Amino acid sequence: MSGDEIWKGLSAYLEARREIEGGLFIDDDTLETLKTVPAERYLSFESLEEFERRISGCRKCSLHKTRTNFVFGAGDPHTGLVFVGEAPGQEEDLQGKPFVGRSGKLLDEVLASFGCSRKEFFICNILKCRPPENRKPLPDEITLCEPYLWQQLELIKPKLIVSLGGVAANVMLKTNIAVYKLRQQVYNFRGMPLLVTYHPSWVIRNLPKNRPVFVDDMKKILDYYLSLI
Ligand code: SF4
Repeated sequence: MSGDEIWKGLSAYLEARREIEGGLFIDDDTLETLKTVPAERYLSFESLEEFERRISGCRKCSLHKTRTNFVFGAGDPHTGLVFVGEAPGQEEDLQGKPFVGRSGKLLDEVLASFGCSRKEFFICNILKCRPPENRKPLPDEITLCEPYLWQQLELIKPKLIVSLGGVAANVMLKTNIAVYKLRQQVYNFRGMPLLVTYHPSWVIRNLPKNRPVFVDDMKKILDYYLSLI
């Protein structure tokens, strides 16, 4: 259920209670004030775990028909750094966890080389269900699923967001510019700093050439993150 739908339901409930109980339940001024608060503010009372429970049965787009598991994301809900990828792959779909295939192992390795572990951060994707055959997410799937990411970020309130790969960067920045032109600059995503780097699967495609580039990006990202906390 979207934030707007929840607020409409809540609003109708408040109106109905007021009709029955009059001003004793809620007065006109309070009701009008409540209506000016964005629905997302009400949802921010929910914990990340409660949010996951509430949306885990999502059937908003057709990907619910082909998924094995809904992949919400994993990590520290109180972290200051969130990684955002494109969508679950085969292994992620089977396990219901993000970045557990080859890409995830590479990300773990690179983080470990800087003395970090993924457990310190939160990792999720734009889409929470796997597109069949790992095809690119379709625009309507992104439109329907992206608000879940917004709400995850609203609940975690990270100091820094890092998009992994072109799809995540292009969706979040609403652009078609390639990753190599977007990286190593700080963007604003819904009031939070966002850095762009490659997806680990890009690194795997040509390890000897691509790995040092990714490692260098990750070093700059972690250094920047440390400067923020
Ligand atoms: S991809 Fe997103 S919008 Fe589509 S069914 Fe899964 S959770 Fe819902």
